[in-house]
Amino acid sequence: MTASRDATSTSIEHRAREIGRVLFAKVGGGPKPWERGWWDDRMMNLTLGDPLVKVQLFRFIDAMPVLKTPTAIRRHLVEYLDEAGDRVPWWLRLAVALAPAGTLGERALAGIARFGATHMARRFIAGATPDEALKTVLALRRQRIAFTADLLGEAVISEHEAERYQQTCLDLIRGLARPLGVEPEIPQIDRDHRGSIPRVNLSLKLTSLTARFDALYDHSTLYRVARRLRPILRTARDLGAYVHVDMEQYAHKDLTLAIFKSVLSEPEFRDWPDVGIVIQGYLTETEADLGSLLDWVKQRGTPITVRLVKGAYWDYEVVLARQLGWPIPVYLHKWQTDACYERSARFLMEHHEQLRPALGSHNVRSLALAMAAAETYHVPDDSYEIQMLHGMGEPIQRALVADGKRVRVYTPYGAMLPGMAYLVRRLLENTSNESFLKASFTDHAQVEELLRDPEEVGAMWGRNQPSQRKPGSLTANAAAPVLTPFQNEPPTDFTRPEARAAMSEALRVVRGQFGRVYPLVLNGRAVATGTEFTSTDPSETASVVGRFVQARPEDARQAIAIARERLAAWSATPAADRASVLLKAAALMRAKRSEISAWEVYECGKPWREADGDVAEAIDFCEFYAREMIRLAEGKHRDVPGETNAIERIARGVVAVIPPWNFPLAIPTGMTVAALVAGNTVVLKPSERAPRIALLLGELLREAGLPEGVLTVLPGFGDVGKALVDDPRVALIAFTGSRDVGLEINRKAAEPAHGQNHVKRVIAEMGGKNAIIVDDDSDLDEAVVGVLQSAFGYAGQKCSACSRVIVLDGVYDAFVARLVDAARALPVGPADNPDTAVGPVIDAKARVRVEGYKTIAEGEGDVVLSVDVGPLVARGNYVGPLIVAGVHPDARIAQEEVFGPVLAVLRASDLNDALRIANGTVYALTGGLYSRSPANIDRVKREFRVGNLYVNRPITGALVDRQPFGGFQLSGIGTKAGGTDYLLEFLLTRTITENTMRRGFAPESDGASTAATPTNEAALGV
Ligand SMILES: Cc1cc2nc3c(=O)[nH]c(=O)nc-3n(C[C@H](O)[C@H](O)[C@H](O)COP(=O)(O)OP(=O)(O)OC[C@H]3O[C@@H](n4cnc5c(N)ncnc54)[C@H](O)[C@@H]3O)c2cc1C
Repeated sequence: MTASRDATSTSIEHRAREIGRVLFAKVGGGPKPWERGWWDDRMMNLTLGDPLVKVQLFRFIDAMPVLKTPTAIRRHLVEYLDEAGDRVPWWLRLAVALAPAGTLGERALAGIARFGATHMARRFIAGATPDEALKTVLALRRQRIAFTADLLGEAVISEHEAERYQQTCLDLIRGLARPLGVEPEIPQIDRDHRGSIPRVNLSLKLTSLTARFDALYDHSTLYRVARRLRPILRTARDLGAYVHVDMEQYAHKDLTLAIFKSVLSEPEFRDWPDVGIVIQGYLTETEADLGSLLDWVKQRGTPITVRLVKGAYWDYEVVLARQLGWPIPVYLHKWQTDACYERSARFLMEHHEQLRPALGSHNVRSLALAMAAAETYHVPDDSYEIQMLHGMGEPIQRALVADGKRVRVYTPYGAMLPGMAYLVRRLLENTSNESFLKASFTDHAQVEELLRDPEEVGAMWGRNQPSQRKPGSLTANAAAPVLTPFQNEPPTDFTRPEARAAMSEALRVVRGQFGRVYPLVLNGRAVATGTEFTSTDPSETASVVGRFVQARPEDARQAIAIARERLAAWSATPAADRASVLLKAAALMRAKRSEISAWEVYECGKPWREADGDVAEAIDFCEFYAREMIRLAEGKHRDVPGETNAIERIARGVVAVIPPWNFPLAIPTGMTVAALVAGNTVVLKPSERAPRIALLLGELLREAGLPEGVLTVLPGFGDVGKALVDDPRVALIAFTGSRDVGLEINRKAAEPAHGQNHVKRVIAEMGGKNAIIVDDDSDLDEAVVGVLQSAFGYAGQKCSACSRVIVLDGVYDAFVARLVDAARALPVGPADNPDTAVGPVIDAKARVRVEGYKTIAEGEGDVVLSVDVGPLVARGNYVGPLIVAGVHPDARIAQEEVFGPVLAVLRASDLNDALRIANGTVYALTGGLYSRSPANIDRVKREFRVGNLYVNRPITGALVDRQPFGGFQLSGIGTKAGGTDYLLEFLLTRTITENTMRRGFAPESDGASTAATPTNEAALGV
């Protein structure tokens, strides 16, 4: 017990333990052998004792609803169990062994598996139809238990599905109101200290009321959700029902609260008390949220209910935050969540007139503490209620009912398929080592242990932990400071209002700089060429982003001469100093992140998140290649007695960098800084579509300390690129762009010009005709969303974009229907509008080309979606998403790179066919698979020939170091950008051997390494 506890806390604590002991005594040892829960818990324990077996079985259960035949069920069970190896219990292995494929045994095994999953589902899911829901509800009432009905649903990915969800909510309220209205009153559950309370109680999820729920576009989300929420509230109010808003992932929390407050502040609903919202105790922001909810209720003048829970997405929140490098929003120790829950429960009891408490927990200690607080604050017994989930903590429910408490059970209802995600969450919760129910009824922990104050648990936990190592003690080395290991730059979290405000402000500032003239700078001096060109906003083609003095071929030759001149000094600069320029550039990019993103929005039509991701990738390239060069500069020694052998890297010479416009900062940065840090000098010819951003890169590198002339940026056209490619003084050409130009560069580079003393090296990243395979057991919620994101993100203008989706016969029709419906929900519009999902294509030429493919598509398949962009066509380069189904694998639309929002859907009879189609193009860049079959995943990993393969996720958005990017065949030469091999492309390797034996005597090798990278003498022409 903590010393600082005040008298009230001490008395609450004391009383909580008393209440807890009494409750435990009434509950007894949990479910009894004649009750279903007892058998279920035993079965779960027997099967799920091993964490690996547990995960595999949960994955199997998750896939089960889509497995149509006994063969499919057996095959998946075997595949999942195989992955758990000999940790599978003997009896399960035996059951599978006794059911070989194609036998009656197989049918029996499938039947048992189906029965088991359905049986489990029935424990937690109240029914599949409104009639079944009514039956469950009436049965609960007979036990003096109230209910709140929850609709299980597939993830809502189209507005049509959102409408269906709204309609089901309305039907449910209407369907339950009449029969329950005529039921005799049960005062324990139908009244509180003020009088009658609604008998119909609905819990709903705001994210199910729109296909696009995102705080990035909070206004339009609010508009769509509110539009569908109001009729539900109205109907509920008219029929005397109650509506509760569930809380989901942290990313949705603030917007959920904002929508709730906004709609319920409207005059129509302002005086209506029969509404409530969930608050999750595991979030570190919970107490602040409760405070602002109280302030709002005071302003509104009518109370609401707060269901206080701990939270159902703990693992998800932790994994997601770690993956993205974001702060973790939940407490990391169970006792901290418990303690927050208790503080919040006290807060609710103190303010129960405004925030009516509904305690959602199966934890006797948490409930006892809240009840003790209620006594202390003189809260009437019937003015708060206790809520539990259907099928969980039933003995506790009964004990509380017997004690006269109002207990409400959360009764989800819906079909088995969408119910699986809910079922798996409940199974995870019931079998989690942190679960109170498991500790109480399965592990039979001591009552006093279970009733311990969480703060006390925390204090004990702290004492028992080994002392933490001081930060930095592992690597602290004054003589040689070590760079921290590389970590990807986290994406900006646009669900935070401050991030959105910063971006809006940057867009405003950048707009204010439109139309400026940018000089051509060679060797620090502006050069007049007599010609200018403009860069325009693809979203508003009348807006001139900037005017650029246009470089000529002679300027390219002059830039090469300067680069040659600077080469000796720059390549002799110690690698660590060159690396530090990159690190400083990364820091500058971080500082100017919103501003650079804003330039991308306007110059290249990149929507917010895409632009932000591009800047993050550029930062990653700087940070990653800086570390890589430091590693490579150490060289390698392989000395033997009497002989030293050193392997060292030298710069190649002058590098020509020719990037595209679609990743306007990341690709130029990657190629440029890789060349620079390796000791080369660079002439960069950016795309004429993205000159402002390339000049920004030049400015940032100069500000970071790059000497004048080591990099020259030449805004211009193809003649400048050609001059660079043709020049014999260029050692390496780093190109990303179209296949035809890449092949032409490669051909030219292979032939040395007269007097040229080296063969030019070419790094060429070219196109792709990337495919995603959708297996017949895949999760369509995820597959549809992943395919859309991969196909239409940045209007399909990524070399990694998905342009073919190959769908197995069994799910083809269902997939296409949902895909088309979901694609319709994607707004097309200007890139600076955060609501835009599909922005414009880069220029008028691209628009005409992509539109040409629309005509081709009509002749080659069934155009199932062709979005008309309406009046936008007059403003910018807009092309609406196009989906063409039933395409033949050899059709042009399935073979040619379109580089626009065009997606071909192909039907495959089986996985062999799917792989044949997937591999049937000249490209091999990215590819994907959605599947829940471990064997099919393995096979696709082996046989799908692409440079970057993604399983069960979108195929775009490769991250530096984690997913080095690049393809082969006609997609590229095989170099992986952002990987450990990349810098080697920009370096030559030398081996230096010295015989150190003199007259039978050899000194000891000192093994010193060369910090600076010597120059390639050949390239210097020395
Ligand atoms: C009626 C009802 C409605 C609900 N509605 C929602 C809802 O809308 N949204 C929602 O998110 N949840 C909701 N839940 C809560 C959720 O689904 C779980 O049932 C609840 O978190 C379990 O808590 P407990 O107090 O019963 O059990 P306990 O066993 O005491 O607590 C388990 C909980 O502790 C937390 N936890 C576990 N490990 C850690 C750790 N290492 N560090 C920190 N915390 C940890 C997790 O939240 C976990 O669920 C609802 C629960 C009920 C009863």
